[in-house]
Amino acid sequence: MKKIVVKFGGSNLKDKDGMEKILQTIKNYNQPLVIVVSAFYGITNLLSDALTTVLDDEKKILKLTKSIMKLKQDVINDFIFSVEIREEVLEEISKMLKQLERYLLGIYYIGDVPLFVEDIILSYGERMSSYILKSILSYQGVDCELVLPEDMGLYTDGDFGNATINYEKSKEFVSNRLSDDKIYIVPGFYGISKDNKITLLGRGGSDYSAASIAKCINAKSLDIWKDVNGFLSADPKIIPNTIQIKKLDYTEAAELSYFGAKVLHPRTIEPLSNDNIPIRIFNINKTDSDIKPYSIIDSEGEVSKEVIKSVTYSDDFCVLQLKGPGVGIKPGILAKVTSDFDNYKINIKTVITAQTSINFLLAKKDLKRAFNHTKNLKLGAVNEIVPIDNVTLIALVGKGLSHNHSIAGRTFGTMAREKINVKIINSGASEVATYFIIDEKNTKLAISAIHKEFFE
Ligand code: ASP
Ligand code: MG
Repeated sequence: MKKIVVKFGGSNLKDKDGMEKILQTIKNYNQPLVIVVSAFYGITNLLSDALTTVLDDEKKILKLTKSIMKLKQDVINDFIFSVEIREEVLEEISKMLKQLERYLLGIYYIGDVPLFVEDIILSYGERMSSYILKSILSYQGVDCELVLPEDMGLYTDGDFGNATINYEKSKEFVSNRLSDDKIYIVPGFYGISKDNKITLLGRGGSDYSAASIAKCINAKSLDIWKDVNGFLSADPKIIPNTIQIKKLDYTEAAELSYFGAKVLHPRTIEPLSNDNIPIRIFNINKTDSDIKPYSIIDSEGEVSKEVIKSVTYSDDFCVLQLKGPGVGIKPGILAKVTSDFDNYKINIKTVITAQTSINFLLAKKDLKRAFNHTKNLKLGAVNEIVPIDNVTLIALVGKGLSHNHSIAGRTFGTMAREKINVKIINSGASEVATYFIIDEKNTKLAISAIHKEFFE
C-alpha cells in the first residue's frame, strides 16, 4: 500500500497544545505513515544566532544548551509520566546537547564557523524534535520508528546550507528503508552528501525534505499541516474576507510560494510535479476525526471563475538596475553579470530587460554585495548602476491569466485609480503569474485594491 508523507512545522511544535494536536492528528490517520518534522518553534533561529554570539563569548554556549534543555524538559514532562522513560528520554536529549556543546566550543576555539560545521549545528533542532515526537508516540503505544536521513540514505548534491536531493541515488535506499507497515518519523531540513556529511536543504527546508521523501517512496500524497486554511486569495493579515483556494496546479502553487505565500516552501513542488503526487494542505486547528484538506495541489488544477486565484506579495525583492542606451545591443553583459553572481552565490530571482536597462530582481540581503561586484565588472555599455530598495513585489497568480485579455487592464487600472506608481512589470514569462514592483509603502493599499477588484 502506498504511504502518505505527513509534515508538521515548527509553528505547531510550540507548546503542549500544539503537541497534543499533532499527536491527535497522527492517531486520526490510523494507518502507516512517514512523518517529517521541523525543529521546535524558534530553535533553528536560536542555533543560527549562536553561530555568531558564541564566537566571542564562551559562556553563551552553556546558557544556550541549558535553555534548550529546559524547553525539552517541559514537553517531556507534559507527555511522559513514567519516571523511568522520562529519564531515558532526557538522557538522550542531554547527550545530543553535549555533542552540540562540543561543536560550539570548536567554533569558539577556531574563531570561525566552517560551512560543514554550521550545517551540523543547525541540524540539531530537527534531531531533537523528531526524537521527542517519537518518544512520546511510543510512550502512548503507537508503533513507530525514528529514521535519520543519514541512516536511510537521503543523499544530496553536497552543497552546504542549500543542498538539493539526489533522487537517483536516494530513491532505492529510502524506499527500502521506509517500507514496513508502520509509522516512521524523520527529521526534516537535512540530507547527507555522498561522503556522508550533513547538508542542510535551506532555511524552511523541511517541506522540501518531506516532498523529496514522498518522491522517493512514491507516496500517495504529501500532507502538510499548518495553522491556516490552506492557500487563500490574499494574506489574511491584510484582507479580512479572503477566499479559500480549494484546487491549485503545481505551477500556481510554485509561483505563489516564490512570491511570498507562506503556506509552502517554494521548493516543495519540484520533486512532486513530474510524478503527479498531490500535496494536500490541512489546518491543524480544525481537525476532527475526518481528515479534510483545505487546498489540494496536483497537475489538474482548474481555471477559476475570477481567473486570478490569489494576489500575493513579497518584501524580499529588490532591484539592481543597469542602465545605458546601448545595453540592448551590446552582447555579453548578462553573461558577465550572471557568471559573477554565480561565483559569489548571489541568486537572481528574475531578470527583466529593456533596450536601455537590465533589471535584476534579487533578495534584499544580496543587494549591496551585488551592487559592489557589478561596479567592478567594467561593463562597457552600462553607464549607471542603480540599486533600488524599499520595494515590494506584487504577484497575481491564476491559471488562464495569460490568455485573458482583461486582467492586465483591470490590474493596472486599479493601481492608477489608487495613484500607485508601478515601477516594473513582468507579464507573460509565466503562464500563470503576472507581477510588478511598487514602493514598499503602498503594499497594503495595492493588495486591498486588487482583492476588491477581483474578488469582492
Ligand atoms: N527548522 C528549519 C528552519 O527553521 C527547517 C524548517 O523549519 O523547515 O529553517
Ligand atoms: Mg519551519
